[in-house]
Amino acid sequence: MKTLILNNGQSIPLIGCGTNTYGKENRSYQGAINNDTTEIESALAAGYTLFDTAISYRNETVLAKGIARAHADRKSLFLTSKIPGDPAYVGTDELVHQSVANSLTALNTDYLDLYLIHRPWNDLADVLRVWKALEREVVSGRLKSIGVSNFNNDQLAYLLDHATIQPAVNQIESHPGKWNNDQITFCQARGVAVEAWSPLKGLSDEAKAVLQTIGDAHSKTWAQVLLRYQVDRNVIVIPKSHDAQRQKENLDLFDFELRDDERQHINTLG
Ligand code: NDP
Repeated sequence: MKTLILNNGQSIPLIGCGTNTYGKENRSYQGAINNDTTEIESALAAGYTLFDTAISYRNETVLAKGIARAHADRKSLFLTSKIPGDPAYVGTDELVHQSVANSLTALNTDYLDLYLIHRPWNDLADVLRVWKALEREVVSGRLKSIGVSNFNNDQLAYLLDHATIQPAVNQIESHPGKWNNDQITFCQARGVAVEAWSPLKGLSDEAKAVLQTIGDAHSKTWAQVLLRYQVDRNVIVIPKSHDAQRQKENLDLFDFELRDDERQHINTLG
C-alpha cells in the first residue's frame, strides 16, 4: 500500500475504507446497528488497512468485531475515529478524555492512529480548548495523530496558528461535483494532509462518462480513474463499497498511469 508521511512523521495509507453504513440495517446511515461484519471482513481480505469510522456512525464496535473475526493484526492497521462537536462529547475537558476512552474501548484497542474533530463549531476558542485536550491524548500515547474534518481555510488557519501540535489531516468532501481545490491547496501548503470523503459521490453522468472514456484507454473503471487522480495529487481517499469486488477494485489503482492531459481534463469536470 502506498503511504503518505504526515507532518508528525507518521505514515498513512493513501487509500482507506469508508465505513459509515457498515454494520447497519438496510445499509442506511441511520439504520439500526445489526453487527454485520461482512464488509469489514471482505475489506480486510482485500488488503485495506485504513478504516474510517466515527462516534456518530455508532459502528466503532462493529469495526472491532470485524477485525477480531478476521484475526487481523492491530499493528498492521490504521484506525481513524472522530469526535462530534456537541457538548455531550466535548463540553468539558473531562468529557473529551472520556470520549477518547470510549472510542478506545469500542474499538478494542489501546491507541488510535488518527482522531479527528468531526465538524467545527462557531466558537473557535472552544474548538481550540478541545484541541488542547486532544493534544494531551497524543502526549499520553492514546492517539498517534490528531486532525480535523470539514474545517474551512479560516477555521484551519486559526488552529494552525494557536495549536501546539499541528493538525495532521483535514478530512473534507472532494469529488468532481465539489472538488474543494482551494481547500486542498491551502491544506497542502500548510503541511496538512487532505483526506477526501465521498470520493465517488456527487458526479454528474457527463463526468462519469468522461472518466470512463479515460478508463477505457487504460482498461480501468471510472471509479479507479477518479481515485487514482486524487491519490496522484496526494489526496488520501476513503471509498466505501458494500460489494467485495468493488472494494478490491478501489484498491487496484497502481498498474496504470494517468497522462498530464488526462489529469487536466479530470480537473475541469464539474
Ligand atoms: P463514497 O464516495 O465512498 O461512495 C459510496 C458509493 O459509491 C456507494 O453507493 C457504493 O455503492 C459506490 N461505489 C463504491 N465503489 C464503487 C465502484 N468501484 N464503482 C461504482 N460504484 C462504487 O461515499 P461515502 O459517503 O461512503 O464516503 C466514503 C467515506 O467517507 C464514508 O464511508 C465515511 O467513512 C467518510 N465520510 C466522512 C464524512 C465527514 O463528514 N468527515 C462525511 C461523509 C463520509 P456499492 O456499495 O453498491 O458499491
